[in-house]
Amino acid sequence: MISEAELLAAVPNQLFIGGRWVESSSGRRLDVHDPATGAVIKSIADANEADASRAMDAAANAQAEWGRTAPRSRSDLLRSAFDLLHERAEEFALLMTLEMGKPLDASRGEVVYGGEFLRWFSEEAVRVAGRYGSNQEGTGRMLVTQLPVGPCYLITPWNFPLAMATRKVAPALAAGCTVILKPAALTPLTTLYFAKLLGEVGLPVGVLNVLTTSASADVSAPIIADPRLRKLSFTGSTAVGRQLLAQAAPSVLRTSMELGGNAPFLVFEDADLDRAVDAAMIAKFRNIGQACTAANRFIVHESVAEQFAQRVTEKVQAFRVGRGTEAGVDIGPLINEDAVLKVESLVDDAVARGASVLTGGARIAGAGTFYEPTVVTEVAAGSDILATEIFGPVLSISTFSDEADAVAKANDTDFGLVSYAFTQDLARAQRLVESLQTGMLGLNVGVVSNAAAPFGGVKQSGLGREGGLEGIREYLDTKYVLTPNPFA
Ligand code: NAP
Repeated sequence: MISEAELLAAVPNQLFIGGRWVESSSGRRLDVHDPATGAVIKSIADANEADASRAMDAAANAQAEWGRTAPRSRSDLLRSAFDLLHERAEEFALLMTLEMGKPLDASRGEVVYGGEFLRWFSEEAVRVAGRYGSNQEGTGRMLVTQLPVGPCYLITPWNFPLAMATRKVAPALAAGCTVILKPAALTPLTTLYFAKLLGEVGLPVGVLNVLTTSASADVSAPIIADPRLRKLSFTGSTAVGRQLLAQAAPSVLRTSMELGGNAPFLVFEDADLDRAVDAAMIAKFRNIGQACTAANRFIVHESVAEQFAQRVTEKVQAFRVGRGTEAGVDIGPLINEDAVLKVESLVDDAVARGASVLTGGARIAGAGTFYEPTVVTEVAAGSDILATEIFGPVLSISTFSDEADAVAKANDTDFGLVSYAFTQDLARAQRLVESLQTGMLGLNVGVVSNAAAPFGGVKQSGLGREGGLEGIREYLDTKYVLTPNPFA
């Protein structure tokens, strides 16, 4: 097993542009911290606008040749990346735990989940289909084909450092697009290590370029404005997504937006409560609550709310909090001080409006940015915690009286990424499928993410889908050709 020091030394500390590891022309360094200790674990290159321009040149120059490679070559390359990722699974898992804080088992889970996008899109690369047929009048022949959109700019968040990258890079490469990838400044190391892996499996020069930076807005603006860029794919907050959409508007740039959520978790009076309680633990505490799919509002029928609250509280009290590298830890640190302050203020506001804290409810003193796993109940309408992504280990419970009330409360948000519902009544479940305003629904399950599924939201949770049959289409343009009827 590789040591932390050996692993960190093996991670590149420069920008990856045009197939080479290069220094930033800014001369600046960007420090990456371990959120469990606050210590700096590595300093890396901090890109500026000049680096952005070099990366754009590299991606644009590589596009024509990469777009014409045989789909089977692209497929084989992604499959080799999948295989090598699994050989290095422990290294990637440890690296994510070091820079992001999640427990090692959760990081191992992300290697599996993130790796599946490489395998899935290696299979999709060879299945991009077109069609040929007569027009309605019989006077012509219609040919429909799909071509790579061209150079793409991919921006990823800090919470799933590997999976958010593979979910974009794999379909883009499968489709024949070149990319510039910009990870979050908080967790850039996994992306750098992944870029190194792609280089090792033979990705041609310029096809993938990586910019790490503390100046995201300055570095991104010229790339988004560059007429050679053909696609922007962003995962992150709705606030930043809105700004990027505005920047993309002048050139009518194709965009995919995977934005924030505010997931309701509905527990009906006829639910299998054992199943609902187990699923609640995953839906809420996976990734220390720092997931766009995290259940944000537990909305429970008033007849079972007390029992549900008591049972989840027992489970939460059994959680072990600590550095993610320690054995048996369930809950690691939050990503930084701002995240702790946000969770504190949401819990304080809920309590000030009448909520009761059943367990937890405070930050943990000492090194690192830890917050106690918490359950708050009797959360009043109008509390900030019902309108804001908590992004922390806080399970917040409010109640509903009947199905119409449950649906109204679930839909009372600008977001619509994922919802969870627990009921054993088939007709009710079918009604929920149609009435919940959501891109994804976990029906009697607490996790929906899967490489074969179209991941994405409605309302202000975003545009487009990642994964599934839909994922590669985000990186393809449809072209239609008409020819005369050759027999006329
Ligand atoms: P964020 O602050 O919006 O940042 C996301 C990415 O955008 C980071 O790489 C960030 O870089 C970059 N960025 C920030 N401002 C920018 C700007 N003006 N121009 C260009 N890039 C900019 O979000 P986050 O805090 O990292 O992630 C948490 C959010 O992501 C939550 O809202 C969560 O729900 C959402 N999320 C959504 C999904 C989904 O699939 N729908 C998945 C995961 C997370 P720097 O950090 O380096 O500034």
